[in-house]
Amino acid sequence: MARRSKLLDPINLFVPKFRVEECLAEIRECLEAGWTGLGFKTVQMEQKWIAYTDLPHAHFINSATSGLHLAVRLLKDVDGWTEGDEIISTALTFVSTNHAIKYEGLNPVFADVDEYLCLDPEAVRLAITPRTRAIMFVGMGGNTGQLSEIIKICQEHDLRLILDAAHMAGTRLDGQHVGQGADVTVFSFQAVKNLPTADAGMICFESATLDEEVRKWTWLGINKDTYTRTVSENRYRWHYDVENVGYKYHGNSVMAALALVGLRYLDEDNAQRRNIASRYRSMLSKSANLSLVSIPEGCVSSQHLFQIMTDNRDEVMDQLNQRDIFPGVHYKDNASYRMYADLQGSCPRAHRASERLISLPLHVSMTEQDASYVAQSLLEIVEA
Ligand SMILES: *Cc1c(COP(=O)(O)O)cnc(C)c1O
Repeated sequence: MARRSKLLDPINLFVPKFRVEECLAEIRECLEAGWTGLGFKTVQMEQKWIAYTDLPHAHFINSATSGLHLAVRLLKDVDGWTEGDEIISTALTFVSTNHAIKYEGLNPVFADVDEYLCLDPEAVRLAITPRTRAIMFVGMGGNTGQLSEIIKICQEHDLRLILDAAHMAGTRLDGQHVGQGADVTVFSFQAVKNLPTADAGMICFESATLDEEVRKWTWLGINKDTYTRTVSENRYRWHYDVENVGYKYHGNSVMAALALVGLRYLDEDNAQRRNIASRYRSMLSKSANLSLVSIPEGCVSSQHLFQIMTDNRDEVMDQLNQRDIFPGVHYKDNASYRMYADLQGSCPRAHRASERLISLPLHVSMTEQDASYVAQSLLEIVEA
């Protein structure tokens, strides 16, 4: 195979691709209009996201972390949850997922993962107690795992479903964009996610009432945003009320400008990610020293990650680094963090995975030749 010269750029885990001229044109509109804040492009992005996903509502926010917090907060208020109530979640995730539960004084209860590295329905059933109020499902790397089973469990046990879709922009299940069947779905448009901005996200409530409510919560509890007041005919547009101690979580027009351009290319970019992934899969699936994560029938993954598992993970990572390949790890078992130490030992499969996982470089500027070089290098290392 072709050798990469040392002079070539290293192959990094994530490199976002921005269509610079198109981004600048969108941002220019904001600057010329003198409107960089809430409203204008944020409204356009919400409308385009609804059209793209076919979800009933969408509110553009400053991060998925904020969105997950408000998902918990609003469901807690509307259902009357109390401190100490439980949400079943995963130990194998970015800490945002579980912090969102803690912010509201609720207890995350970890259930173990399945072969897709997503919550295992059987483990979830066993984790249900009289205090369980919701399930927080993370679509790992864009994979839907056994999401349909989880939706059934929520229906059977009258639990809310919060979908942490930070990796899932563009993931489809049985032909539909993910989010159907969840009470609330939260997407991330953070700098290295599939639809990158700098920091932004989208919160999509199923309920129209909660969608209306969340727009106040992201703007300090103010019940009428500045933009609506500016464009309305109302002579007394400076009058507004503050209904609750809300947060400053809304998104802005500069981020929305980047998101609008990213959305135009999301399907094309995700298809390129799946090409890289299938090159990896075809080259790596034969190795007895590696395990891959499969994608269930009906799922067209956004392919945010391509994860493999191997023994001696840290050493394999070092050797890949020596070949100018810089992969990542998603994620450390959250129970190994001091903040979640009380949950240690609850998820043996997630724990073992977290010691063996590697996320291979995967981004849209990679060529299939780059992917072959990464796969060949990995094979040489693990077969040695
Ligand atoms: C990135 C990420 C988040 C947080 O997203 P931000 O937009 O950076 O707040 C939450 N959950 C998962 C699984 C993530 O990967």
